[in-house]
Amino acid sequence: MQKDGRYESILFEKTVIGLALCRMNGDLVYVNPAYAEIIGRPVEQVLALSYWEITPEKYATQEKKQLESLEKTGKYGPYEKEYIHADGHLVPVRLSGQIVEIDGDEYIWSSVEDITEQKQAEKELERLLKEVNQLSFQDGLTGIANRRMFDQTLDREWKRAQRDRTPLSMIMLDIDYFKQYNDYFGHLQGDECLKQIAKALSGVTKRAIDLIGRYGGDEFVVLLPETNKKQSIQLAEQCFSAVKRLKLPQKPSIVSDVVTVSAGVSTSNPLKEISSSTLIEAADKLLYQAKKKGRNRFEYHKD
Ligand code: GH3
Ligand code: MG
Repeated sequence: MQKDGRYESILFEKTVIGLALCRMNGDLVYVNPAYAEIIGRPVEQVLALSYWEITPEKYATQEKKQLESLEKTGKYGPYEKEYIHADGHLVPVRLSGQIVEIDGDEYIWSSVEDITEQKQAEKELERLLKEVNQLSFQDGLTGIANRRMFDQTLDREWKRAQRDRTPLSMIMLDIDYFKQYNDYFGHLQGDECLKQIAKALSGVTKRAIDLIGRYGGDEFVVLLPETNKKQSIQLAEQCFSAVKRLKLPQKPSIVSDVVTVSAGVSTSNPLKEISSSTLIEAADKLLYQAKKKGRNRFEYHKD
């Protein structure tokens, strides 16, 4: 097809891509309406500006690199940066360009795309991913760590304890007669009871490295790095006091008039050849003994 100046100028005027021509020093000599719209000024006003006046300071290093590329290859971009809009806000853009020669003089020809919407979508996606990630490690009902989080943390802390030769303890707690509690008060009240206990347990430990989790159903775990047997027994006592302080009424026929828990407390000085599951198995066995001995108590190895 033959070249036709009319078509070319219509294309430049109507395209949604911003097009600009500037001198090597940055003075803008031609911009199309789309370019002017990106920076929120009439075309004539833009032509009185230099490229550097619409470029935020923070892009100085990046711009230097693009200029080097321009000098070396005759092209630059595509890359992302921001322009300063007439109202002062920054507009994210993607731009690319090349050197063109007009009547023996060199100019920089740029094509610019407003990527505000894309950036907003990316931000939203990032926020959602963070939320999903957090939710996947959180128990939906109580908001404390879930089983997955506990498993991962135990794995990490077990290795750390092996490396640093520090003791690692855990408390496994289970609500007493919780099935009957649910049957008597209803499942919703049962949920509320689980939430209250999770909150009470969370208030017991003060260190950031301790982890309170819901192991499943009416079972909770407290993982205590760098904690020996004596210290973990003290913490188990505090957990029991915290649950009792809640004074959650229990079904009338049950021995205690408030909701109680039973627990197994295990401590390990992890050696290379043993696996972290031994710590859970020990706590589980001790919890079973506590239940057998009448509940509302905790057990630990008395060696
Ligand atoms: P024990 O003293 O031996 O622990 O008796 P228990 O009744 O607590 O033990 P069991 O394991 O038989 O019952 C646990 C109950 O926890 C059964 C189940 O209905 C209840 N449960 C598990 N998950 C939830 C939950 O998310 N919400 C509610 N409301 N109840 C739950
Ligand atoms: Mg139970």
